[in-house]
Amino acid sequence: MKAVYSEAHRGHDPQFFLLRGVVSRTTEQPERAERLLAGLRAGSHEIVAPTAFGPGPRARVHGPDYLAFLAEAWDAWRALGDAGPEMIANVHPVRIPGSYPAGIVGRLGWHTADTSCPIGPGTFAAACAAADVAATAAQLVLDGERAAYALCRPPGHHASRDMAGGFCFLNNSAIAAEHLRRKHDRVAILDVDVHHGNGTQAIFYERPDVLTVSIHADPAHYYPFFWGHAHERGAGAGLGANLNLPLPLGTGDADYLAALDRAAATVRAFAPGALVVALGLDASEHDPLAGMKVTTDGFRRIGAAIARLGLPTAFVQEGGYLSEILGVNLAAALAGFEEAA
Ligand code: ZN
Repeated sequence: MKAVYSEAHRGHDPQFFLLRGVVSRTTEQPERAERLLAGLRAGSHEIVAPTAFGPGPRARVHGPDYLAFLAEAWDAWRALGDAGPEMIANVHPVRIPGSYPAGIVGRLGWHTADTSCPIGPGTFAAACAAADVAATAAQLVLDGERAAYALCRPPGHHASRDMAGGFCFLNNSAIAAEHLRRKHDRVAILDVDVHHGNGTQAIFYERPDVLTVSIHADPAHYYPFFWGHAHERGAGAGLGANLNLPLPLGTGDADYLAALDRAAATVRAFAPGALVVALGLDASEHDPLAGMKVTTDGFRRIGAAIARLGLPTAFVQEGGYLSEILGVNLAAALAGFEEAA
């Protein structure tokens, strides 16, 4: 299948990562995209450059305050004169309603959920390029491709309408879904990343036209902790259009594929015109985050199960971190899809 890729991701090279009080180098590194690209080449997929769509696709998902913040953030941070090499907030307006601040430190706290989304000089440009990559894959599907793949970096599914978090800034999967919505009345998003797609869920939580389904490690003990529980089913007009399938840490192929069967049944019942797959590969048994134990053959079978839905499908890369098998698992998932399609 056609695979969309831009080298612009390299401008985003975050360093800081805080886990259980320990600071280390982040796992969301440019090298991830190199390994995913190697997997695409091994699978003989046709690599295509993204179309420059301008601000439209990201503005259909994210709010103007947030987009203005991302665009201005680095220059305002540098202008402080005594700030560090990456933008990381030290305060957030959590769970008590507050007012939008004027200064960059306050805006940073307002628009970031955690310490895992450091902003550097090239972050906004890379995130905008990833949004174009996602929209281009969606456009290929609108133009008649059975499926297309978007090699997005930074990833997107933890970003909500006006907040970054968990390595994510612009929600590429949501952007692809909104792009597909321009033609299709109903679109489904199936998130197979090991982490719950909390940003995607939040964006569409009250929407009846976009089904969000996520299979992930149980948030009782795993990021993003506060969202991703089975009782979160949508609200208002969107009630019933959100399905969470939390699984125990360490889940392997058989139980994962059983959950995927449930997810697929929900997608079929929704009868969407097109599908976005938020394709995290971090449920791998070899992923450094060690949340689940899905094998390479498991990823092939995940791809096949998705193909059997019979829908025009845009794959959008989410997580999946540095292991020897990252590109191999991508190739397996896409090959499984193509063999069953
Ligand atoms: Zn993840």
